[in-house]
Amino acid sequence: MSILVLNAGSSTLKFALFAEQTCEELARGLVDWRGTADTARLTLQSPHGDFEDGAAEITGYQEAVRRILETLRASGLNDPVHVVGHRIVHGGDQFQQPTRLDEQTLRQLEAVSPLAPLHNPVALEAVQAARSALPEAMHTASFDTAFFSTLPESASIYPVPWSWRKDYGIRRFGFHGISHAWCAMRAAELLQQSGQPWFRLVICHLGNGCSATAVQGGRPVATSMGFTPLEGLMMGTRSGSIDPGILLYLQQQKGFTGEQLSDALNHQSGLLGVSGVSSDFRQVEQAADEGSQRARLAILMFADRIRSTIASLVVTMGGFDGLVFTAGIGEHSDRLRRLVASKLGCLGVQLDNDRNRAGQADSQISVDGSPVRVLIVRTREEQMIAREAQRLLRGAGES
Ligand code: AMP
Repeated sequence: MSILVLNAGSSTLKFALFAEQTCEELARGLVDWRGTADTARLTLQSPHGDFEDGAAEITGYQEAVRRILETLRASGLNDPVHVVGHRIVHGGDQFQQPTRLDEQTLRQLEAVSPLAPLHNPVALEAVQAARSALPEAMHTASFDTAFFSTLPESASIYPVPWSWRKDYGIRRFGFHGISHAWCAMRAAELLQQSGQPWFRLVICHLGNGCSATAVQGGRPVATSMGFTPLEGLMMGTRSGSIDPGILLYLQQQKGFTGEQLSDALNHQSGLLGVSGVSSDFRQVEQAADEGSQRARLAILMFADRIRSTIASLVVTMGGFDGLVFTAGIGEHSDRLRRLVASKLGCLGVQLDNDRNRAGQADSQISVDGSPVRVLIVRTREEQMIAREAQRLLRGAGES
């Protein structure tokens, strides 16, 4: 028996297959529609060999799930799928734990969609596609917001009229929780501090989306993303935090509509907006190396905002023991890690340049004896979802 994990984005569907008993990863892959809507790149990596179809005729999630199952079988991964674990970005106030998906929970989740219009609807489409392809399987959801359900009120309430919280549910939810939870667990393991209530970490998830979280004793105490995944750090195409007065000015004086503002802040800002080159950090790095001043500025601003956020999270905890870099940029860009660490010596961060350049996943890159240990951790969101799905399955078996 196996566990299939589906992670649906706006133009990609990541998947991974795990052994049900051990949660050992058996295969992983991607359906990628970036470029065209009706042909996709379908890739699969497994110990049985890799597979790639650069122009698969796949329109929509229904067809994508069917092709994923077909490709897994063709690669010799024949074990029936017993559970499908889905990643859902926003669980709202209702879903603060991994949850079994049925008609009722799906209806409740539909109601959460307006809180995450760019993320939840596509994930729910993928759920429906998987339920019709695998009607006998149990379907579960893991939520990016769930890890943050215990954030202290002082970290989750905004200084706005109290009625906004009461009437509209405005509060900080926090995102990337599946990744932050994995990294908190893995960093504690690597530093042999699991279960220590005083152990304090700052985790920087730096990918297309970016967020930083302060974690004490395994629980988050503050995080940079807020009511939406737009707050906090500068990102690939998202602005992160800016003066809200800018929006009022553009709306009131320049006639911008809500839709235009949303498009600008979500899709035209961040690394892309400043560099004018790309949202992809590798391309921004390359442009900077080739002399683009705007690309250089984008990288400096990106690093500067990460440093300031780390500092503010550290102060929230009164100090820290570990700093974690994860996700595409955090794991792979030694330049970015060096830039971020360069002014954190005052907080006890001492990077080892050789270890940083080597960039080994799940390794320490600070000098021996650094007061704050710096780690690269490879985030394993799918593994985390599989474990949560396995727990729900076992719970269902016992009840
Ligand atoms: P993610 O959202 O975690 O897949 O991360 C995507 C981001 O990671 C993109 O901005 C990529 O350019 C960046 N990235 C991936 N590999 C590298 C690398 N080797 N060096 C620098 N950035 C990278």
